[in-house]
Amino acid sequence: MRVNRFLKAVADVVFPQHLKCHACNKEAIVNDYGICAECEQKLKYVPQLPAIKGVDELKCGMLYTEPARMALVSFKFNGAVYKKEFLAHFMCVPENWNADCMVPVPLSANRLKERGYNQSELLAKEVSQKSGIPVRCDLLARIRETEKQSLMTREERSNNLKKAFSASDDCNGLGIILIDDIKTTGATLEECAKELRKHGADRVYALTACCAAEGKTDNE
Ligand SMILES: [Zn+2]
Repeated sequence: MRVNRFLKAVADVVFPQHLKCHACNKEAIVNDYGICAECEQKLKYVPQLPAIKGVDELKCGMLYTEPARMALVSFKFNGAVYKKEFLAHFMCVPENWNADCMVPVPLSANRLKERGYNQSELLAKEVSQKSGIPVRCDLLARIRETEKQSLMTREERSNNLKKAFSASDDCNGLGIILIDDIKTTGATLEECAKELRKHGADRVYALTACCAAEGKTDNE
């Protein structure tokens, strides 16, 4: 732990982004998860969420509005992986969830190669550090390349995702928390949950960093 703190102090000097707000990118005094006071005031939390088929309970950290939106876009598309700390901050596992592991929504091999990391896996690892619940990346794979979904309707997304995921029989009897960066229509989480249950998952929950209003985003 002491070594970690020392490394973070070194990183703060070497990588000045640690002195910048993780949401607005301005130089500022930031709180313990990297956000300036102005942005902290603007963050919106997620009240009630509609159910997703096959998902026992869904929880999202923040609404996908500024400043969370800007942070997620640069985390996902501009390689700003250090923003995971802020984005995962409000991803808290409810006490009543009976979970054995967390499963990040997988990327296709091509997308993973192009991006260099799976943003949902990075978030899952952050949540795992806080909750002690292990991350399993071997239980669910994306077996089919799917089109980018940002401009699709709910129905188009559903069709686009058919047979895109493949789960392992090791899911049998497990309680699984699906982790994703953003929930939009819920089509991705629904398809993943269906596949995990087909392979014996007993309980499936979903936890995401952000929640977009139903419809189109620039981000899926
Ligand atoms: Zn800020």
